[in-house]
Amino acid sequence: MYISTRGGNDSFSAAAAIKTGMAPDGGLLVPEVVPCLEKTFLDKLVGLDYHQRAAEILKLFLDDYSASEIESCLKAAYNSKKFDHAAIAPVVSLSEGVSVLELWHGPTSAFKDMALQLLPQLLSLALKKTGETDQIAILVATSGDTGKAALEGFRDVDQTQIVVFYPYLGVSKIQELQMVTQEGKNVTVAAVKGNFDDTQTGVKTIFNDLQYGKELERHGVKLSSANSINWGRLLPQIVYYFSAYADMVKTGRIRQGQALNFVVPTGNFGNILAGYYAKLMGLPVHKLICAANNNNVLTEFLRTGVYNRERDFYKTLSPSMDILISSNLERLLYLVTGDSTKVSCWMRELSGKGQYQVDAECLAAIQQSFWSDWVSDDITLKTIQRVFKQYNYVMDPHTAVAWKAYENYQEETGDTTQTVVVSTASPFKFSDSVLDAVGGQASKEKNEFDVLRELAALTDWAIPAPLANLENKKIRHTTVGNKEDMPNLVKQAVI
Ligand SMILES: *Cc1c(COP(=O)(O)O)cnc(C)c1O
Repeated sequence: MYISTRGGNDSFSAAAAIKTGMAPDGGLLVPEVVPCLEKTFLDKLVGLDYHQRAAEILKLFLDDYSASEIESCLKAAYNSKKFDHAAIAPVVSLSEGVSVLELWHGPTSAFKDMALQLLPQLLSLALKKTGETDQIAILVATSGDTGKAALEGFRDVDQTQIVVFYPYLGVSKIQELQMVTQEGKNVTVAAVKGNFDDTQTGVKTIFNDLQYGKELERHGVKLSSANSINWGRLLPQIVYYFSAYADMVKTGRIRQGQALNFVVPTGNFGNILAGYYAKLMGLPVHKLICAANNNNVLTEFLRTGVYNRERDFYKTLSPSMDILISSNLERLLYLVTGDSTKVSCWMRELSGKGQYQVDAECLAAIQQSFWSDWVSDDITLKTIQRVFKQYNYVMDPHTAVAWKAYENYQEETGDTTQTVVVSTASPFKFSDSVLDAVGGQASKEKNEFDVLRELAALTDWAIPAPLANLENKKIRHTTVGNKEDMPNLVKQAVI
């Protein structure tokens, strides 16, 4: 069963947890017990493919889904039509001690696909299991990556509708094209005049308008969200930590039982938290290295125990990590302390005073597993350039942040544990910065597809097909509205 980090009395089946998304007391849902694996489990994984590995992990957390249901969800989520690599999440070794786990072979070329391909499948079954007869309308406000990944994941999924809002002129040209060309019977995309905060506030206002919600329900529609606090988004991410470990054993880079470090470019703390769950389950993980950009609230927290969101917000070259409130950290605090009273208190301080400080015992427990550093834009570009020169490997800015944070870690600690850097986006998704870093020039006037082609020519890497194909896709969504229009746009889309 799943329970709240804030201690509410309700408990939820896996299906109910995935359908609900958030606990009624405002907390996040976590499994009551974390399954602990025997050593033979890891032996078994080595010989399996990604689907089979995923099935082994998922069944531990989804008591109320049958083996064949899990199998059909996995088939629909991770297949050769959607992923351009047979291994789904391949591990590439760059040097003696460092390998890269590539999580960007899915339909939108970023790691959000790993979760957002599977979540809609799990949710659609959850609706059947909980006897839900209403349509579920997923509302998303996006600053770029999540919107497209959610659209791809939910397109044509039974009993769901998806509505995505993005800030007009506030996302990259490629990101905009990815969204406005979206196909599918149940999808709506609209631009909102304003910045991302306006868009997000618009969505929150809709969620909080009880009367509006009741009106939709009279038409058989319930609202839900697909953001990363849903357990159904975290769970698929646990799988690739195990899979990477099994691959490292399979290729002889580590012995079974030998520990690994993982370095994770971090924003909302979802990805790295999945790694921590893997560790709690018994995966031999030495350190989880949390890499941040100039928005370094997490680095400060992991070093001092003080979380302070009252600080300047920077727009960086790694925009998916431009976050000041990392929602999933609440789950870590609960896992480490087991104390929902403390967690509730800290979260109240965060929303009231903008900061909180954990006690020394909690900080020490966190620091046993986590280490953190942050990297500036300037150093990020230099890292992309250096890694390309040295290894002929092209990193996107988020991955480069992780690479550099690891170098800093090694310098500070001298730790020689084998390490896996988690790569969260294809370099072509952030082609302007990457082209500049590897010796080209991405001026503002240049057509975005020319930038992709130039990057491909310079690096000898192939442009991912879904990005290359955008050039010939029909524009299907042209709505541009004001924030005030959002409730009506949703109604038109889902009723
Ligand atoms: C979302 C995202 C991240 C941050 O992941 P979290 O789970 O939010 O910590 C990092 N890199 C890329 C490319 C992303 O899209």
